[in-house]
Amino acid sequence: MDARKDIRKISDSDLKAWMQTRGEKAFRLAQIQDWLWKKWAASFSEMANLPASLREALDSDFQIRKLSVSEFQKSADGTIKVAFRLFDGNLVEGVLIPSGERMTACISSQVGCSLTCKFCATGYMDRKRNLDAAEIFDQAREIAAIAEKEYNLPLTNIVMMGMGEPLLNYANVLEGINRITDPMGMGWSPKRITLSTAGIAKMIVKLADDGVKFNLALSLHAADDEKRNRIMPINESNTLDAIKEALRYFYQKTKNQVTFEYIAFAGFNESLEDATKLSKFTRSTGIPVKINIIEYNPIAEADFMNADPQRLDAFKAKLESDKLIVNIRRSRGKDIDAACGQLANKSNS
Ligand code: SF4
Repeated sequence: MDARKDIRKISDSDLKAWMQTRGEKAFRLAQIQDWLWKKWAASFSEMANLPASLREALDSDFQIRKLSVSEFQKSADGTIKVAFRLFDGNLVEGVLIPSGERMTACISSQVGCSLTCKFCATGYMDRKRNLDAAEIFDQAREIAAIAEKEYNLPLTNIVMMGMGEPLLNYANVLEGINRITDPMGMGWSPKRITLSTAGIAKMIVKLADDGVKFNLALSLHAADDEKRNRIMPINESNTLDAIKEALRYFYQKTKNQVTFEYIAFAGFNESLEDATKLSKFTRSTGIPVKINIIEYNPIAEADFMNADPQRLDAFKAKLESDKLIVNIRRSRGKDIDAACGQLANKSNS
């Protein structure tokens, strides 16, 4: 195994100190950062405006550990699932979801997940490790390149809704997003980025205190604690009341958009009574919330089934009659296991 440090894992101040020890001029640091994040160089030899001696010194002390595309699958509906191989052999998955001019990347934050949501294929894998900031950034870059190549369109949105719970990998996720938004990285507006969480109240409060500018989605899926406990064990320690308080705080401090994701499971959470509970819970937050109702894709590990489309329409109508903003998200990429809750490196297992 290559013992050189990954240059994108060391802090800017440590890299600066390394430069100073070698007597390099200060402006070289910005040039290196530009190559690493903006030009997305794969090797030091590409860094044409650096002196050869510096390129060699960088190469002898550091490596650039990029992830690589291990597998690429295209769905009949145009959705593309990518398995990314990490430097240590682990795999994570990302998805490109085309919808007209809108090109959305769904990216992962951890290898596996520790939260064991009962409807989610990732939840049946162990959490192996957190992704680092560069691994998060690289997924966005790779999927942006795929959007250009396959559809000749730029990526328009990024959702952190793939494998893992982003708020349990807080520092790396925030740094990865910072690299995506940094003019020295992808230069994206944070308003086009959404972090999706299963609901960890104290970390939602931390997002607010840290003044993040991206949007937040809560994977809600049930609007009463008893039902939510059954499908999302994290709810036992992060009750709906606790999450509600945290979301209120988040919105008051940041004014960033909050969305509820609600997967509809047949016979479990898609009755009119469930709609009434969802409506009451949403209104009780006192903040503007959009609701996305998501069609479910059954997975082999669990017995949940997708809801009847007519029941979904009735569910939506009930919420709309309560003046809530609701969208139904039809399932995408289910023939390649790329839909919500289906990511589990299955194609490679
Ligand atoms: S839904 Fe998200 S938080 Fe829950 S197990 Fe799956 S990846 Fe983890």
